[in-house]
Amino acid sequence: MFSFRFTILSLILVVCSSAAPPRHFAQANQATAIKCGRLIDPVNGSVTQNAVIVVRDDRIEQVAAGARIPDGAKVIDLSAYAVLPGLIDCHTHILLQPEDERGAPPVITKSQAFRTVQGVAAVKKDLEAGFTTMRDLDSEGAGFADVAIRDGINRGVIPGPRMFVSTYALTITGGHMNNAGLNPDIQIPDPASLTDSRDAMIAEIRREVKYGADWIKLYATGTLRHVDPVTLEPLSQVSLEDVKAVVEEAARWRRDVASHAYGGMGAKNAILGGVRSIEHGMLMDDEALKMMVERGTFWCPTLSVYLPETPADDTEMLRRIVSRHKEVFQKAMKMGIKICFGTDVGAFEHGTQAREFALMCDYGMKPLEALRSATIRAAELLRMEKQIGSLAPGKLADIIAVEGNPLDDIRALQRVVFVMKAGQVYKSK
Ligand SMILES: [Zn+2]
Repeated sequence: MFSFRFTILSLILVVCSSAAPPRHFAQANQATAIKCGRLIDPVNGSVTQNAVIVVRDDRIEQVAAGARIPDGAKVIDLSAYAVLPGLIDCHTHILLQPEDERGAPPVITKSQAFRTVQGVAAVKKDLEAGFTTMRDLDSEGAGFADVAIRDGINRGVIPGPRMFVSTYALTITGGHMNNAGLNPDIQIPDPASLTDSRDAMIAEIRREVKYGADWIKLYATGTLRHVDPVTLEPLSQVSLEDVKAVVEEAARWRRDVASHAYGGMGAKNAILGGVRSIEHGMLMDDEALKMMVERGTFWCPTLSVYLPETPADDTEMLRRIVSRHKEVFQKAMKMGIKICFGTDVGAFEHGTQAREFALMCDYGMKPLEALRSATIRAAELLRMEKQIGSLAPGKLADIIAVEGNPLDDIRALQRVVFVMKAGQVYKSK
């Protein structure tokens, strides 16, 4: 019986995977030649005038100034623009919309089906803004819809970035990503998984991996409402032993752990426990930053999402937090912490996350470093540095073009005119 079921399942998988070939294989072997105005290489910061990139199928075949255009190649003229690798946003929420942050939580007001429809529109906007790869950190109560969207993109059903998804996130009862202030007598699903013991955390990781998670997201501290208004100490949600157990179980499935951690003991437990990246981290002290340097922990600061958007948001507490965020960011740069571009897009309008670059540079980061944070360093965080993050022969053809020169004015990255992902054009002038 078991083997019969297995055979049927295998057959279904074979049929499904062959039913919808990705669109970029439609014109196998036809070369595309992209004429670049200025080609920016984030690896060494070089700018090459009049380079040509030759793309075949989903890969880059050649990149060189004055390279010969192969006979019969389709030519794309981007000679009026700056050309660079596709951008990577390491902290997104494709199933979150700005309106979900205000008013009743979406787990109460929206079906998962409707949220998925919104997610499909969101990934298109993010891709057209130049983000060819994204790590999505928590489906925010929309279950495994992030897996469905990722798979829809990979099979060429819908346009969107190359996605790495984390499905549900691990939290604790009463901690971050709980519905707060509701009647305890009615059963309403919480947006994240409440895992109050180590065994529960391990079981939840297995369930998430089984249903398609690429990353594990752990809430090592609470959120703003849990921060002590006097000391700014965040709520620590996990012990060092908890984090070690989570990281070890994730590693068994060859998955990495991203940890939301504002600072305090929760952040230190996350770093010492071996998570690959710290998210937000605006209240980390010098000791935590030192631990990150020693362990090579990546950091996604997500600066802009904490800026007050309305006068009602502009509280003294938030101003103190934003000012600490800036200080920690500047220290982290000096200390050589591996800062990766991450935005929390979804909490604000999809497709507008390139605004984060401007704030990073306003806080003192050089434009080239900001560009690296969203290309080669982000690719390293994702363990994808051999595939994406720079434009070199053999790599995936993730290529964008912008108006202006981002090395002079980083806001040029908000003016994306062309997007190619894996050799397929998704936006052009
Ligand atoms: Zn987030």
